[in-house]
Amino acid sequence: MDFTDTPEEADFRARLRTWLAAHAAEAAVPDDPGARADAANAWHHTLYEAGYIGLSFPTEYGGHGLSPMYEAILNDELGRAGAPPIEGVGHLSNALRLFGSDRQRTELLPGLLSGAVRWCQGFSEPEAGSDLASLRTKAELIGVDGRPTFRVNGRKIWTSFAAVADWCFLLCRTEPDAAKHAGISVLLVPMSSDGIEVAPIVNAARNREFAEVTFTNVDVPAENLLGERGQGWSIANQLLAYERGPSDINWISRLAVQLRALEDDVRAGRVPDTTVTRVKLGEAYSELRALQVKVQRSLTDRVKGALPGAEGSVDKLLMARADQIFGHTMMELRAAAPLLHEGLEWDLYVWSRAAGIYGGTAQIQRNIVAQRVLGLPRR
Ligand SMILES: Cc1cc2nc3c(=O)[nH]c(=O)nc-3n(C[C@H](O)[C@H](O)[C@H](O)COP(=O)(O)OP(=O)(O)OC[C@H]3O[C@@H](n4cnc5c(N)ncnc54)[C@H](O)[C@@H]3O)c2cc1C
Repeated sequence: MDFTDTPEEADFRARLRTWLAAHAAEAAVPDDPGARADAANAWHHTLYEAGYIGLSFPTEYGGHGLSPMYEAILNDELGRAGAPPIEGVGHLSNALRLFGSDRQRTELLPGLLSGAVRWCQGFSEPEAGSDLASLRTKAELIGVDGRPTFRVNGRKIWTSFAAVADWCFLLCRTEPDAAKHAGISVLLVPMSSDGIEVAPIVNAARNREFAEVTFTNVDVPAENLLGERGQGWSIANQLLAYERGPSDINWISRLAVQLRALEDDVRAGRVPDTTVTRVKLGEAYSELRALQVKVQRSLTDRVKGALPGAEGSVDKLLMARADQIFGHTMMELRAAAPLLHEGLEWDLYVWSRAAGIYGGTAQIQRNIVAQRVLGLPRR
């Protein structure tokens, strides 16, 4: 595939670069970790208003109907401008688009795309993380005031942004007698429903991003079921495939900016120019290139119209590895600030450790690659 911009893409990139030169400062990550979720949401809204959200999303659902290359250009330019990645809504919006009823798409997609309505993802449970299909949060179909209703009981954990979310994309067990994977469904649950309790958890980056969410007799109209009863496992897998492919995020250009900053430190004498330094920078560069080549291959598949699948786990593995090697390199070369365990650099380092966990751990990605990409036997 030819990765040089077409004239239309080059024009888009140039306009975007001009726009970012005037607006990227608005995306600065606040020092106060507690203010970061709202700042990310405000930046998302600014990008939406400027017409940069949903570039490859179909026009009938509020997107711009462009090729995924435009999404990649956006991510590339955001990273280059030092702006944070756009809020990760691509996986949720695509799941709603692919599996939602006409009513769900019409009512829910516009707010999700614009950032006016915020979502969280209720998958993991205290006893069901890697083995997600063991989840026990149950939703029983009953009648409330003559209307078919799911009554939800259970507990979710590590739910990012639950404290600020308006809706939850909830995985729950609706078919208790069905086989493990076949008994799961997705319910779209307003977080304002009676019976939902959100207990924030402070993470190592001093951020209240997570929460434990308890559902006690929460009544959800049956029309909020996404797709069919028992279809939850395949919906979750499609959503995770979108979440794991880093073509949707600006990792590569963000890491490239970090690498350039470290090189500048060496040139300016802030970091000693030793063999060890050169080896570390070389290693970081190689990781970045490996990730870039794989993402370009994934992008080629998307441009050809393929839905993301299990091979996204390779992208996720490379992305987590590159992020962690960059984190380590930064820690080792710029020792002082991060070693004080404070500031944005420390937070970035800690966050890079999480890259091997969120969206499915590195070990689980290797299992997926072994079984579903390479076709190796389970045992
Ligand atoms: C920053 C961050 C954000 C998150 N956001 C969300 C969110 O919004 N919504 C949500 O639902 N969850 C979220 N999570 C939770 C995340 O999905 C889980 O932490 C992850 O799936 C692992 O589950 P666990 O923590 O229960 O670990 P476990 O499943 O208990 O795993 C513990 C260790 O055992 C290993 N292991 C387990 N099973 C196997 C196996 N079969 N083969 C090899 N190794 C194995 C794992 O790799 C891991 O190293 C988030 C996590 C993080 C770190």
